[in-house]
Amino acid sequence: MPAIAVKTKAYAAASPTEPLAPFEIERREPGDDDVVIEIKFCGICHSDIHQVRDEWGGTKFPIVPGHEIVGVISQVGSGVTKFKVGDRAGVGCFVASCGECENCTHGLEQFCAKGAAFTYNSFEMDKKTATYGGYSERIVVNERYVLRVPDALPLDATAPLLCAGITLYSPLRHWKAGPGKRVAIVGLGGLGHMGVKLAHAMGAEVTVLSQSKAKEADAKRLGADHYFATEDKAVFTTLAGRFDLIINTVSAVLDWNAYLGMLKTDSTMVLLGIPDNDVPLDAGSLVRGRKSLSGSMIGGIEETQEMLDFCARHDIVSDIELTAIGDVNAAYDRVVKSDVRYRFVIDMSTL
Ligand SMILES: [Zn+2]
Ligand SMILES: [Zn+2]
Repeated sequence: MPAIAVKTKAYAAASPTEPLAPFEIERREPGDDDVVIEIKFCGICHSDIHQVRDEWGGTKFPIVPGHEIVGVISQVGSGVTKFKVGDRAGVGCFVASCGECENCTHGLEQFCAKGAAFTYNSFEMDKKTATYGGYSERIVVNERYVLRVPDALPLDATAPLLCAGITLYSPLRHWKAGPGKRVAIVGLGGLGHMGVKLAHAMGAEVTVLSQSKAKEADAKRLGADHYFATEDKAVFTTLAGRFDLIINTVSAVLDWNAYLGMLKTDSTMVLLGIPDNDVPLDAGSLVRGRKSLSGSMIGGIEETQEMLDFCARHDIVSDIELTAIGDVNAAYDRVVKSDVRYRFVIDMSTL
C-alpha cells in the first residue's frame, strides 16, 4: 500500500536570495514507530540562516529550516511505547541515524558513521527523501529520536535547548564542569548564554570572556561569577593559566594561541563553531602545559534527554524573544546583527 502523504503548511526559502515564504510540504503517514508532533514553537538557530542563505554551500532548495522544535504529540504508530497522544515532545538537530554503528550504539548518533539524517537540508536514511524542519505545522519522526519535554519547562523557552542547550551541555559534561572547576565561556550569544546558565547550575566557577563590557550585567544575571572584556589585551596576561575548561562559542577567527594561554596544565579548549578561514595554531600553545584543543557538536539522544531533565530540575530555559512566522526574515537580520537576547523563538500558531 503506498504511503499516504500528509499535507503540511510550512515556511521555505526557494533560493539563497529569496526570503522565507509560505510553502506546502508533505509529511509521511506515520509508520509503526513514528509519532506525529504538532509544532508549537521553533527556535531560530544561526545555522538556519547560514543554510537558508547557502553560506556553507550545498543547500538543497526549497529549504524548510528549524531544528529547535517543541510541540504536542497528536498521533502515535502502533509500535510506539515512549509517547502517547497529548505528550509534550521535542526534536533537535537530527531525526534518524543508522542505529547500528559504534557511534550510534554509544549514544553519539550525531556522529553516525553512515551520516545522521539531519532535521532539515538533509536526507532520511534512505539518502534520497529530503528532510524538512520545524518552520512547519507538524513533523513525523521515529520515537527513538524524539525527546520528552518535562512538564516543569515552558514550551516556548525550551525550544532553543534542543540545539543551543545540548551544544553547551554535552561538552560541559564531557569535560566534567562542576564544583571546583573554573570554566570560561567565550562569547555571550545564543550558545554562550546557555553555557553560563548550565555551567553555573553544575556548580562550576563561570567566567565570561566577551569582546566588550556591553554584556557584563547580563552575564552576571545569567550566573557568571566573573566577566572580562577581551578587547583589553591585558586580560590574557591577568588570566594566564587560570581555566580548567574554555568553551569557545565564537565562529569568527580568534587568536586561539592567546586563549590556550589561559588554560591550566592538562586542560582543554573546546570549539563549537567552525570559522570560515583556517586559524593559525602554534604547537607550543599545546606542548607547553600538555593542553588540548578539541571540538564538540550537539549531543546524542540520551544525553539530550538528560539535559532537558537537568534543565527542569534547575529551572533553566533560554532567554527568548517570541516572533511571528511572518516576521521571520526580519528576525534573521537581527540575529545577524546580534540584536537579540538571546534567542528568537517562532510562535508556530502564527503560521
Ligand atoms: Zn542549531
Ligand atoms: Zn550510526
